[in-house]
Amino acid sequence: MKEAKKDIRALSKEEIRNFFVEMGDQSFRGNQVYEWLWAKGAHNFDAMTNLSLETRALLEDHFTINHIQVDSLQKSSDGTIKNAVRLHDGLIVESVLIPAKNRTTACVSSQVGCSLDCKFCATARLKRMRNLNPDEIYDQVVAIHRESMLYHNRPLSNIVFMGMGEPLMNYKNVIASIDKITGDEGMGMSPKRITVSTSGVPKMIKKMADDQVKFKLAVSLHSAIQETREQIMPFAKTFTLDDLRDSLEYWYAKTKSRITYEYVVWKNINDKEEDIDALIKFCKYVPCKVNLIEYNPIDDGDFQQAGDDRVQRYIDRLEAFKIPVTVRRSRGKDIDAACGQLANKH
Ligand code: SAH
Repeated sequence: MKEAKKDIRALSKEEIRNFFVEMGDQSFRGNQVYEWLWAKGAHNFDAMTNLSLETRALLEDHFTINHIQVDSLQKSSDGTIKNAVRLHDGLIVESVLIPAKNRTTACVSSQVGCSLDCKFCATARLKRMRNLNPDEIYDQVVAIHRESMLYHNRPLSNIVFMGMGEPLMNYKNVIASIDKITGDEGMGMSPKRITVSTSGVPKMIKKMADDQVKFKLAVSLHSAIQETREQIMPFAKTFTLDDLRDSLEYWYAKTKSRITYEYVVWKNINDKEEDIDALIKFCKYVPCKVNLIEYNPIDDGDFQQAGDDRVQRYIDRLEAFKIPVTVRRSRGKDIDAACGQLANKH
C-alpha cells in the first residue's frame, strides 16, 4: 500500500534540501521549493514554474501542500472583514481584518475551539478540537494581507493573536508561525507589530521570557481579585493571580517589554470601587497599560457591559495613578467578528 503523502510545509528548509539530495538531485532545489511554499504562497506544485516538469512530478508523488481555503467572507459596515477559514481536514476557524485610521490589523486564530473556559466567550463553548499548525496560522495572515491590499489598498501592519484559541496552549506552533511571519523568507514583518494575547498561563509566560521573544504580550485580566476572576474564568483556580503576577514580573525582568492588560467592565461583576482598587494595585507590579474592551454580548445575558459612568470611573482612577489606559471600541459587531464572538455560527 502506498504511504500517505506528507504535508511538505511540515518540513524545514533543511529537510527539503535533504530530500532532493536523497533523490539524487541538488540541494539548492530545496531552497527554490521553500521559497515557493512560503514567500510566494504556492498552493500546488504546478505553480512552481522554475522547476522542471519531472521535479514537479516527483514532489507531487511524495507530498501534498495543505492549505487553507477562505470559505466565506463577510464584510461589516465599518470595513471589518471576517473570514471563515476551512482547514485541510474540513474544520473551520475564523480570522478578522480590522482596518483603522493608521493601521490594518489581522486578528488570527491559534486553535480550533479553545482549551480554556472563560464564561463570557463564545469560542470557549466549542471546546478545543485541535491545535493549528504553523502553516495554518501563517496562511490566515497571508489571506488577510491579500484582502487588505484588495479592499483597502494597503498592506497589513499589525497582527494580534486574539482570534479563537489560547495561543500559549499551542506555544510551539504559534512561535513557529511567528518565525515565518517575521522571517525574511516569509513576510519579513517586525515582531514589534505582533501581539500575543493570553488568558494568563504563568508557566508559558516564563517560557516566552526565557526564549527572549520579541513580540508584545497582552494578558486578559478582567479582574485582579482572585475570587472574581475564578468565577468568570474558572481555569484561574489553577492559574492563580499570584502565579500570574510572578510570571509577569519574570517576563518584565527578562524582556523589559511593557504588558497590556485587557479588561472588560461588567455590571455587578467588576464595576465596584474595590475592583478598581485591586486593578490599580496589580498594575503597580510591572510597567503596563490597560485596554478597556467593550463587551460583545454572546447571548444569555449573564454578562452585561457596565454603564459608561463606571467605565469612566476606571479611566479617571487609573489616570490619577498615571497608568496608561485606552478604550477599545468593538469592530465588526454586526457580523459577529468582534472579540469573543468567533464561534462558527454559519
Ligand atoms: N485566549 C486568548 C486570546 C483570545 S480572546 C486570550 O484570552 O487572551 C481575545 C480577547 O477577547 C481576550 O482579551 C478575551 O478576554 C476577550 N473576549 C472574550 N470574549 C469576549 C466578549 N464576549 N466580549 C469582549 N471581549 C471578549
